[in-house]
Amino acid sequence: MLDLDKNTDPAAPKVSFVSLGCPKALVDSERIITRLRAEGYELTRQHQGSDLVIVNTCGFLDSAKAESLGAIGAALKENGKVIVTGCMGAEPENITAAYPGVFAITGPQAYESVLEAVHRASPPQHDPFIDLVPPEGIKLTPRHYAYLKISEGCNNRCTFCIIPKLRGDLVSRPAADVLREAEKLVAAGVKELLVISQDTSAYGVDIKYAASKWRDREVRAKFVDLAEGLSELGVWVRMHYVYPYPHVDDVIPLMADKKILPYLDMPLQHAAPDVLKRMKRPASQEKTLERIQRWREMCPDLTLRSTFIVGFPGETEADFEMLLQWLDEAALDRVGCFKYEPVKGATANELAEAVPEEVKEERWHRFMQAQQKISARRLKRKVGTRQQVIIDEVGPTVSKGRSMADAPEIDGTVYVASRRPLRVGEIATVKIERADAYDLHGSVVGF
Ligand code: SF4
Repeated sequence: MLDLDKNTDPAAPKVSFVSLGCPKALVDSERIITRLRAEGYELTRQHQGSDLVIVNTCGFLDSAKAESLGAIGAALKENGKVIVTGCMGAEPENITAAYPGVFAITGPQAYESVLEAVHRASPPQHDPFIDLVPPEGIKLTPRHYAYLKISEGCNNRCTFCIIPKLRGDLVSRPAADVLREAEKLVAAGVKELLVISQDTSAYGVDIKYAASKWRDREVRAKFVDLAEGLSELGVWVRMHYVYPYPHVDDVIPLMADKKILPYLDMPLQHAAPDVLKRMKRPASQEKTLERIQRWREMCPDLTLRSTFIVGFPGETEADFEMLLQWLDEAALDRVGCFKYEPVKGATANELAEAVPEEVKEERWHRFMQAQQKISARRLKRKVGTRQQVIIDEVGPTVSKGRSMADAPEIDGTVYVASRRPLRVGEIATVKIERADAYDLHGSVVGF
């Protein structure tokens, strides 16, 4: 983990950094921090005593905006010189209305503008400590896993989402660029790569799947080609934000062969056709159940994670019942559920028939209860099996890790007992002895 308190030069200008929001925002933070360290700035966890504070905000939900505003307020109080970046920076008037005293505001991915504002607030030292920056950049995730962002923006226009407004249309990175970054991360000790974007299955559409040279061959900017390239790096590769387009079928054999992790994070949001239509969701959903079934036949170990929204405007009791029925049939392994929140600027706010708060609440509880039973049933099937587990946190008697079925932060934990001390980032074979609603418990039987 990045040690933000580790100062190597007492004279270096100090920056306190607050990173809020999703993994995509975290990647932006990593890029800014990498540049700052390259220019000789020191990172600190303390607002007080640092030369300035950068707050990377999240504007996805109103609750996230409130958290971001709170962080800006705290930084102003404790330090006074505050640069705001990230999703909320796309609507600077909301920030200045609450805090007219912020030093500068930049939008998402505006790395150059952030750097420029930092230079104005606290100029870099004449002789930057370029050598302090490792070639893979500075990471905010623990050393053994890293997010790999393959594109920015999104071509879809889901009515509840303002991300395309904030971040623009899809811009894919050339495959060779992504693969080279992945290679550097692996060379620096990363054992698990988490592929992220707004819509991973749409990767490359904007650049017409253009090929670029990596190692001794041309690699197309296509989901399956990228997955194949990443599978050659000898680490865990986990796919996030994959929509069930037909071409995802091509990636399942790589999962069946364990070349990449048999794991798909596929945000579906609903199952009732009327609701999906009002949400303007990408990919045809009618065939999703069949597709899931076929994937499971091709790759029986496949773990499916998804997220859903309940209480979307116009969602009827019949729509909701259809969602519960769908969940039952799909038997997804991991599921998150959000109550619909009218995000400012989202076109869904113009839809009639808002669902009352108490109905949203009641549906959310019913949803969670139904899914909890399904998840518990799926987890129980693992008792008695042997699973590869990557160790995240070492404890005196029991360590915490994750199986191939668990992404960091969002999925469950495997609690691992071991006779010999384990190391963070090490992959052990664990015999699963028991399961509860979300987590597994077992003992190491090999390495
Ligand atoms: S796919 Fe939909 S929800 Fe996801 S970022 Fe694009 S518009 Fe937003």
